[in-house]
Amino acid sequence: MSRFWSPIVHQLAPYVPGEQPQDRTYIKLNTNENPYPPSPAVMTAIETIDGNLLRRYPDPESVQLTRALATYCAVDDDNIFVGNGSDEVLAHSFQAFFCHHRPLLFPDISYSFYPVYCDLYQIDYQNIPLREDFSLAVEDYDRDNGGIIFANPNAPTSRLLPLSAIATLCQQQPDSVIIIDEAYIDFGGESAIPLTREYDNLLVIQTFSKSRSLAGLRLGYAIGHRDLIEGLKRVKDSFNSYPIDRVAQAAALASLTDENYFCQRLKQVISNRYNLSVKLEQLGFSVLPSAANFVFVEHRQMAAVVIYQQLKSAGILVRHFNKPRIANYLRITIGSEDECNRLLETLADILDKG
Ligand SMILES: *Cc1c(COP(=O)(O)O)cnc(C)c1O
Repeated sequence: MSRFWSPIVHQLAPYVPGEQPQDRTYIKLNTNENPYPPSPAVMTAIETIDGNLLRRYPDPESVQLTRALATYCAVDDDNIFVGNGSDEVLAHSFQAFFCHHRPLLFPDISYSFYPVYCDLYQIDYQNIPLREDFSLAVEDYDRDNGGIIFANPNAPTSRLLPLSAIATLCQQQPDSVIIIDEAYIDFGGESAIPLTREYDNLLVIQTFSKSRSLAGLRLGYAIGHRDLIEGLKRVKDSFNSYPIDRVAQAAALASLTDENYFCQRLKQVISNRYNLSVKLEQLGFSVLPSAANFVFVEHRQMAAVVIYQQLKSAGILVRHFNKPRIANYLRITIGSEDECNRLLETLADILDKG
């Protein structure tokens, strides 16, 4: 608390990211990072950067990267906006589209950054409860609103909404901006990007952090109608002209050129997810059907918080949210095969003793 803070700073309840403890080496299955390194092409791009060029500001518009993303997403250049992590793209989107008098709608169980941005930008919002099985029903959003946002696959539930439901929603709400946060879409969903050509109110947001193993690089992007993209650029150029540094622009570009490596690693994570889910079920967990690089699980006998604590003592971090409806669940990131095996052995021990 400081007497120098602006009034709004007193009211903020900042987002709490998953722990990144430095006290010992953990098997980190708590922040949905990719267990595999980025493509070797990324490392080459970083290593061959001309140090002398770092004297100069980077391209403020990330033109080359924008073009490559446009090709990758099969849209035009002016349908792409890039930002310093998708969190920044989300923040700009909240400011660009949701700062008005009608309430933003999002699920009660959802990415916990959404209410934080609402506080920051003083946006009124309403939580729409997910159904009993944590599925999202688009009919529930058929009410007065000033915008709709959710993650698909949803976090932390891992559940996927089919594309047809998103199309229905865009039709139902032609006057609201609808944002689909596709941080995990590469792990098993069908992207809504093609729908952005049909619906001028749809904005899709993706990231290099999860599926491209580049959380440390900070690169996210949005795909949508050029008017939405122009709105985002207006906010960006009123905030930071150079959000993407030279290293990030080069590395992200390189990542896009190595589709083969990308697909191989995706397949591996998906296969690890399948094996882990089967074995977790055998240990007495119920596992929600996952289209992401994590699973959301509940044990039939032992409390989630107890399992969380015992895993942590054993050097394995998973995520526990002490929140209504999900307090007895754990969100477990899909690790490498080794990490999954270590997790399963440790869980078997914990459950034996419990
Ligand atoms: C991880 C995550 C993000 C943030 O991604 P960055 O690009 O690393 O900022 C956004 N949305 C959801 C749902 C996420 O899980």
